[in-house]
Amino acid sequence: MSYVDQVYEMVVNKNPAEPEFHQAVKEVLASLRVVIEANEAAYQREALLERLVTPERQLVFRVPWVDDNGQVHVNNAYRVQFNSAIGPYKGGIRFHPNVNLGIIKFLGFEQGFKNALTGLPIGGGKGGCDFDPKGKSDREVMAFCQSFMTELYRFIGADTDVPAGDIGVGAREVGYMFGQYKRICNVYEGVFTGKGLSYGGSLGRKEATGFGLLYLTEAMLRANDLDIKGKRIVVSGAGNVAIYAAQKAIELGGNVVTVSDSSGYIHDEAGIDISLLKEVKEVKRERLTAYAAARKSAVYHEGKGVWGVRCDIALPCATQNELLLDDAKLLVANGCLAVAEGANMPTTIEATDYFLKNKVLFAPGKAANAGGVSTSVLEMSQNSARLSWTFAEVDTRIKQIMTGIFANLDNAAKSYGMDGNYVAGANIAGFQKIAEAMMAQGVV
Ligand code: NDP
Repeated sequence: MSYVDQVYEMVVNKNPAEPEFHQAVKEVLASLRVVIEANEAAYQREALLERLVTPERQLVFRVPWVDDNGQVHVNNAYRVQFNSAIGPYKGGIRFHPNVNLGIIKFLGFEQGFKNALTGLPIGGGKGGCDFDPKGKSDREVMAFCQSFMTELYRFIGADTDVPAGDIGVGAREVGYMFGQYKRICNVYEGVFTGKGLSYGGSLGRKEATGFGLLYLTEAMLRANDLDIKGKRIVVSGAGNVAIYAAQKAIELGGNVVTVSDSSGYIHDEAGIDISLLKEVKEVKRERLTAYAAARKSAVYHEGKGVWGVRCDIALPCATQNELLLDDAKLLVANGCLAVAEGANMPTTIEATDYFLKNKVLFAPGKAANAGGVSTSVLEMSQNSARLSWTFAEVDTRIKQIMTGIFANLDNAAKSYGMDGNYVAGANIAGFQKIAEAMMAQGVV
């Protein structure tokens, strides 16, 4: 059995019942096979792959909190500090009822590669909790966030581990967690990114992942003699990433005809109205039915179905494994030219392979959604320097970083004879950077 296969088998055996983690490792190892096998004995002697797929530290803790009726609840929380070879752990915190250790591990593993691709000095980590902020009062969310941070504070710090938002964690939750950290530690430092503008946040951070996704998509299309202008675009999700991806896609001349949430999706042939979408989702925190009620051209459909809407470009921006093989077949049959992942691992391995086989341009999330974490690093830089940059300055840097990332993965794919395979390109380019730093630092 080859070294790569042995390591995959070890991951499955040592981490039972964690299918998302197995999936993320499998995809990366498949791309790395050609690189590893060229130098197998040396990597194996250093146990490099074993170290790459095993988190440096995993924290599991309970979070007790009291609701508005005086009832006590207990949630399960995690922080996985995956790899610090190239910088302090960096990655978001997710609050969603389906969060478990395997999901946080897959996200932390992916994050390490993503962070390496940005060219910025940050390692990989991720955290989360099976708490659902939906339907909770502001006081309940605050009570939960304070209790969460009362445990987590001892493991994080501006030069150790710098969390940010993710699904279910937006400006409100980051504010409560940052406030509690500052209170306990008595230090005002850039320990969190995605902060509010009045207390150390960066202009452009809210928009960064969605805008960055479109900058990378634009670079990928250009490299293949295509353009966003005039293209029909289907977006899934209606959260932070989806909203700003849709906004930038429209600004670049695309026609965005869908958004979705976990209950259903909107099909709006007149094009998604971004101001209305923001009003519904960011201000009123309502469901997408409220969007449909306010707009004649919009039709609301219950359940899944967004990938059946004809498009040139598909942007999955909701969650993991939301785009399956059957969805990929529908998209290809309907003439889809390009897929770029705003979410983390939204496409299954079978669906990804189907796109690649059918010559659909495919930008994997670990490259395409790196605009958020890149801007988090810009936020950390501004915090350290006690400075605030303008929106235009930040936006220009995001664009430079995203086009740089595309060039990186394009070159990596070409240098291994896999021209146009940006999945392999991203995994190889990320690996090369992390592996070099790990080898230089010895057995740690
Ligand atoms: P939000 O919480 O702001 O939005 C998530 C959206 O996805 C909501 O519309 C939500 O619908 C939908 N969604 C969540 N879970 C499911 C599910 N199980 N099935 C169907 N729909 C679902 O999160 P973000 O926009 O921040 O994150 C979206 C994705 O992007 C995630 O994969 C995240 O890891 C990734 N990402 C985010 C970054 C960021 O900067 N925010 C950076 C890089 C990646 P509902 O409201 O009904 O739950």
